[in-house]
Formats: sequence, C-alpha cells, structure tokens
Amino acid sequence: MSASKFTLLCNSHKCRTKLSGFAWVTACSHVFCDQHGSEEFSRTPAICPACSSMLSGKLDVLRTELTPSEQYKAMVLIGLPPETVLEISHKALEFWTYQVNQERLLMEYNLSRTGGQVLQMEKFMVQQNQSKELELNALRGEIASLKKVLEEYKRKYSEVLERLNERNRQYQKLQGLLDSLRMHTLGTGEKDPISHPFSTGLIKQRSPHSSPSFLAPEGDRFFSLGPENAKTFFQFSTPTRDRTQSFIKKN
Ligand SMILES: [Zn+2]
Ligand SMILES: [Zn+2]
Repeated sequence: MSASKFTLLCNSHKCRTKLSGFAWVTACSHVFCDQHGSEEFSRTPAICPACSSMLSGKLDVLRTELTPSEQYKAMVLIGLPPETVLEISHKALEFWTYQVNQERLLMEYNLSRTGGQVLQMEKFMVQQNQSKELELNALRGEIASLKKVLEEYKRKYSEVLERLNERNRQYQKLQGLLDSLRMHTLGTGEKDPISHPFSTGLIKQRSPHSSPSFLAPEGDRFFSLGPENAKTFFQFSTPTRDRTQSFIKKN
C-alpha cells in the first residue's frame, strides 16, 4: 500500500469511515470524522476515544481540512523559517506514518484472527470427517455382519430345502411302494375274473357257489372294468405310470 493511495479512516472503532473534507486530528496522532470529532471533543475535558489520552491543551485537538485549497497551501507556511517548515512537515509525516502503521497492525491482527478461525474451522471439519468416517465404518461393519447373517440364513434355507427334497423323495418312494402293494393285492384278486360274481358279461356264468355279498356296489363297478379301463384307473391312483405298467405286465 503506497502512502499516497492510503486514505485515513475514522479511528472510532464503530465508525472506520473513509475521511474526506473536514476531520478532527489529535496530539496523540488520532483522527476522527467530522461527526464523531464534533461529538467527542465538544465535552470538557476532551478525551481521545481511541487511546483515552487527555486532550486538555488548546491545540491538542484541531479540526482541519484534509484537501485544502491551493491558496491555503500557498500561504500556510509562508514566512516560517526553513527548520520550522521541516519540523512541521516532520510532525505531519509522523502522524501519517503512525496512521499507516496502525492500519497495517489492524489488518495483520484481522488476518491472524481470520487465519485462526480458518484453522479452527479446518480442525472442526477434520473432527467431523473423522467422526463421520467412524460412523461410516461402524455402518460398514454392521452391513458386513448382516450379510454374514443373511448368508447363514441362506445356507440354512438350502439345508432345509435339501432335507425337504430328500423327505419328498422318500415319500414318493414309499408312495410308489404302497401303490405297488395295492396293485399287487388288487391284481391277485383279478387273477380269476370268472369267479367274480358281478363281472359284466360273465354274470350269466356265475357260479352258484360264489357269494355276491362280499362285494360292495363300488367293488362291483370296479371289477366290471376291462383290463384297459383298469389300467386307466391305476394311472389315476398311482403317481408312477412305469411301475404300474411293469406291474401289470408282471401279472
Ligand atoms: Zn467517525
Ligand atoms: Zn488518541
């Protein structure tokens, strides 16, 4: 920041407005806008609002024009000895240097404070990230254990299904055996159809010795079926056709 581009700011902490026109300067090297200077320095004794210095001297506070007219500049130091001119200039430059340095220190302070806030925020974000990462890992662990449980259930389900299939196979086998047994029994009964008293077409040749009272009406109908019809009936009552047929062939 070059000194010529530097603009004085009201040294009131709440104001800090850019100064132009008239301003109030103090012996303690502070400067205030016209409004704040008028308010603060109308009281007695005057106290600098920036550094609390007592400003009781007649020239300790001065209302000055920051951009004086050419005529004023031409006349204000006229007649003063060179050393006085230099002394006045020196004092004015000291004031300017102080103001520039104060601004620089304030900017540095703000910068370091902002840097501290950024660091704190970064730290907070890192902590947040770590905590979220932990949460995420916990959830991942939970998912993994749930997957394991699911796999275990799947395995158990397959086992149960396998056992069920095995039982089904056993059941089918037993059912087949049972059907074979039934057919065997029935087949044995069918071996001598002539002796059956109610067989269709054979009823006239009925032997007087056979007793119709052993057969229920259903039995009558059943035994009236021809070999082909009987085969169809067996197919209904037995699950395995091959067994039935092989059995029929056997008999
Ligand atoms: Zn102000
Ligand atoms: Zn002051």
